[in-house]
Amino acid sequence: MFDIADVTSLATRPHSYVFVLFNQMKRVKTVGRLGRLEFRPGFYLYVGSARKNVLKRVKRHMRATKRIHWHIDYLTTGSGRMKPVDAYIFHGEFECEIAQFLSRMLATIRGFGSSDCRCKGHLFYAGRMPVLKLVVDKLILRFGTAKAGTLSNSRGCPGSAPGFVSGALSR
Ligand SMILES: [Zn+2]
Repeated sequence: MFDIADVTSLATRPHSYVFVLFNQMKRVKTVGRLGRLEFRPGFYLYVGSARKNVLKRVKRHMRATKRIHWHIDYLTTGSGRMKPVDAYIFHGEFECEIAQFLSRMLATIRGFGSSDCRCKGHLFYAGRMPVLKLVVDKLILRFGTAKAGTLSNSRGCPGSAPGFVSGALSR
């Protein structure tokens, strides 16, 4: 759980995050200029950052209704949207470094979320839960203390990853 100092830091300082989504079945979605993409069933990891108010950003990703602004919004809105599962928050702005790290372990969805940088993509496919758990473990090991929280609407989702601190995002 976050203490008061953490909450202040989350609101005022830059942070990176890994947002985990669960896709229940094979779907084809149109994602802006990327066009029609096929998404297999399983877990997807989206990497982003926020200059401030990272919790606000993560909560935005959880909302089903919003104006489409980022690629990720195409996956989290409408019928057949993916289910938010977990979010891992890191102190500092190094989303591309996290993306490079994940790209060595997981399949990258090309061009997704990386219009403004040189990464292949900022969305990764982890498939099943054991793979997700392994990757999350490595992520936390590599990037230090992950500030993480269960999402308040994650009920009914298939399990949660290890090294997880609950309650942070439901406040
Ligand atoms: Zn990048």
